Amino acid sequence: MALAKRTFDVVVVGAGGAGMRAALTLSEAGLKVAVLSKVFPTRSHTVAAQGGIAASLGNVNEDNWHWHMYDTVKGSDYLGDQDAIEYMCRAAPEVVYELEHFGMPFDRLDSGKIYQRPFGGHMQDYGKNPVPRACAAADRTGHALLHTLYQQNVKVNTNFFVEWMALDLIRDEDGDVLGVVAMEIETSEVMILQARATLFATGGAGRIFSASTNAYINTGDGLGMAARAGVPLEDMEFFQFHPTGVHGSGVLITEGVRGEGGYLVNKDGERFMPRYAPNAKDLASRDVVSRAMATEIKEGRGCGPHGDHVMLKLDHLGDEVIRHRLPGIRDIALKFAHVDPAKEPIPVVPTAHYMMGGIPTNYHGQVVAPHGTGPEDVVQGFYAVGECACVSVHGANRLGCNSLLDLIVFGRSAARQIIEDLKNNPNPKPLPADAADRPLARLARLENQKDGERVSDVGDAMRRTMQAHCGVFRFPDLMAEGVSKIREVAERVRRTEIKDKSKVFNTARIEALELDNLIEVAQATMTAAEARQESRGAHAREDFPERDDKNWLKHSLYYSEGHRLDYKPVRLKPLTVESFPLKPRVY
Ligand SMILES: Cc1cc2nc3c(=O)[nH]c(=O)nc-3n(C[C@H](O)[C@H](O)[C@H](O)COP(=O)(O)OP(=O)(O)OC[C@H]3O[C@@H](n4cnc5c(N)ncnc54)[C@H](O)[C@@H]3O)c2cc1C
Repeated sequence: MALAKRTFDVVVVGAGGAGMRAALTLSEAGLKVAVLSKVFPTRSHTVAAQGGIAASLGNVNEDNWHWHMYDTVKGSDYLGDQDAIEYMCRAAPEVVYELEHFGMPFDRLDSGKIYQRPFGGHMQDYGKNPVPRACAAADRTGHALLHTLYQQNVKVNTNFFVEWMALDLIRDEDGDVLGVVAMEIETSEVMILQARATLFATGGAGRIFSASTNAYINTGDGLGMAARAGVPLEDMEFFQFHPTGVHGSGVLITEGVRGEGGYLVNKDGERFMPRYAPNAKDLASRDVVSRAMATEIKEGRGCGPHGDHVMLKLDHLGDEVIRHRLPGIRDIALKFAHVDPAKEPIPVVPTAHYMMGGIPTNYHGQVVAPHGTGPEDVVQGFYAVGECACVSVHGANRLGCNSLLDLIVFGRSAARQIIEDLKNNPNPKPLPADAADRPLARLARLENQKDGERVSDVGDAMRRTMQAHCGVFRFPDLMAEGVSKIREVAERVRRTEIKDKSKVFNTARIEALELDNLIEVAQATMTAAEARQESRGAHAREDFPERDDKNWLKHSLYYSEGHRLDYKPVRLKPLTVESFPLKPRVY
């Protein structure tokens, strides 16, 4: 079938913070840029980020990038690559001021400087005392950030393809990436978007779990596309559970609540975090707090008739602070938990939140696949930034507010790298004859499938499997069973059918296409988790409770074909400073 084709200098898939930050620099440089998004750009999940963006501005208390770097290395449980972490923490103040100059409406201190609040794991003086490092716009920081970037992109004429879904990567026999095949959601029109550079910024995949803080569109499409094109996925076993999702709905209550002075209590009204983290208490890093909560619940100190949650108490902050600094949280508490947080505590549980793993890249945003083809194993023409990428600054556990920072720092660095790379590569390579075969075959299967299962039923089976077999604490027998169960679900995904084709709008087809991506992510996560025989960051095994640096200080790489795992060393050497040596991680 002859497909329509359009050619750009750069195709960016994803219009969240990462995609839009990159697109801005690319369009400003005069390149012809297409940005695809499944939803209107400002509805990307970045808009939901609440608490803030980390930068050592030192507006409230003394701070510097080296302390931020230390916290990030420690937060990552030493799995983060120290070159990328140095790069990010050093660049943080500059990129935040840049956002300020783009017009981002940060909250202000009385001095007129950007408001900063404490967040989990952000400390002064190499781990001593919590420091306010999160630059915030009330509890709607992502909203402020995304709208600012969108407006800047409109100014520089970035081409947006709104409600377009990328289906698959185009990769030639040299392994180079030459663009994507995409579909307009409204019309089902399929088109080839050819580009000299393809940048993935497709966000996370929280929807592999039943209980998640993530938007419904967070289906790991970039990872699915990369995996099908033979690119490995890095560190997929590390999935962050945020301590405070509203019990029942999973809607996020920002850590900023604890930053402002809120704390967790069990059924006896005991503030329990000091028992687990005597120094940082409720502001220990997320994996530590989530495990403490799960332990309280497991040991019978959970709240409610089923003892299945704990309480987040913030009434002592006073109505005025809550209304002024945490207005969105007040709304969420009223709507989803039916409590007024100025009077009653909010029922909370750990909830799937953030994917530390992703498409392997270096700190220039170039995709680096160890068995790739180009020089230094860089996959030519392919870049990834934001939550879909693994650069890896978050290692085994991300610190709050370091994701928005990651989007902006690496969105900018990837754009700069692309501008350089395109100077040496003025003409697009010819497309292979089979450029669109894979996505067209997927679409044809969906059209022709008879007597298949409903997409939503198979999706539910996947989410339930992940939730039960790959949660906050991981048990060997449950994980082994989880691996075989998730493979069975993958078989069922191949036989899904869109029921009542004449009645439903295209959303059913989109859900089916998304499930192809979710199942890749779920299999990668389950397989890599079962294989890693240690506890590190967010990966907490019951049978191997300690970190094992001798055998496991390495990144995993999962290949979709054959479910093969490989490993590569952690980059322990920073760019200019000394490495932070390995230490036990206590808060
Ligand atoms: C509720 C919540 C609160 C958070 N709060 C904070 C916080 O306070 N601080 C912090 O640092 N981090 C926070 N995080 C994490 C952070 O917000 C995310 O990691 C980050 O916003 C992800 O940005 P992104 O640009 O990578 O992707 P997203 O913002 O998720 O955007 C992904 C984009 O890709 C597009 N897309 C996906 N697949 C396709 C496809 N196949 N075709 C076309 N387009 C596609 C989508 O339409 C969207 O435009 C929070 C996360 C959540 C869920």
